[in-house]
Amino acid sequence: MGSLSGFRVTLEQVFKPRVTEHFPEQKRPKPPRFHGRHVLNRYEDGMEKCIGCELCAGVCPAQCIYVRGADNPPYAPIAPGEHYGYVYEINYLRCIHCDLCVEACPTEAITESKLFEFSFVRREDAIYTKAELVVDDHGRPRRQPWELWADEDEQHTSAWMRATSPSGLAAFEGRVGWSGELGYGVRAPEAGQTAAEDQPEFAEPPPDEPVGRNDLEAADPRGTH
Ligand code: SF4
Ligand code: SF4
Repeated sequence: MGSLSGFRVTLEQVFKPRVTEHFPEQKRPKPPRFHGRHVLNRYEDGMEKCIGCELCAGVCPAQCIYVRGADNPPYAPIAPGEHYGYVYEINYLRCIHCDLCVEACPTEAITESKLFEFSFVRREDAIYTKAELVVDDHGRPRRQPWELWADEDEQHTSAWMRATSPSGLAAFEGRVGWSGELGYGVRAPEAGQTAAEDQPEFAEPPPDEPVGRNDLEAADPRGTH
């Protein structure tokens, strides 16, 4: 019997309920701030949010973003303003999903979905271009054949990093400055909504506080901010 006692622990486990997930058929919901693969968002009117400014590429610590901007066609602009992202590539063999690119983007163009279940058999396939990154006509991420999506993977694609203090101005603290997007419109914000509701004094900027660059320069002409 002594030689069989070592199986006691194993036999005990056999009769316990299973705790394993039935992955990949069933996927656990991911946290709203989970960093998955990126998308390039569009405005509610369908225009692309990316203006080709290259800030995301400049801030990327892994140097995995390649962006080229181009002038908008005057009679068929791709994005509001002068420029749009003509070339946009992300190399997912390098990306560490730090989301600094998301933080740096001035137009909320690049955000991350919750998808991390994707793999490649060729190095070239790891480089996503606009064809894969720009959301479809319904504002949803384009699902690639080699990606394993669950419906909730796209639910918080651009929800997690709502700006609650745009431009760092204290007068805007607690106010969410977030533009609508194709397919989702203006999403309910996170902390900003709560702060504005719980603290009504944050709902509108104080009338005597400087709220814009001109106001700041008038209030502080030496630019000591
Ligand atoms: S998540 Fe980080 S590593 Fe990946 S593209 Fe953005 S800045 Fe670069
Ligand atoms: S994704 Fe944002 S930061 Fe990057 S080039 Fe486009 S607008 Fe600029």
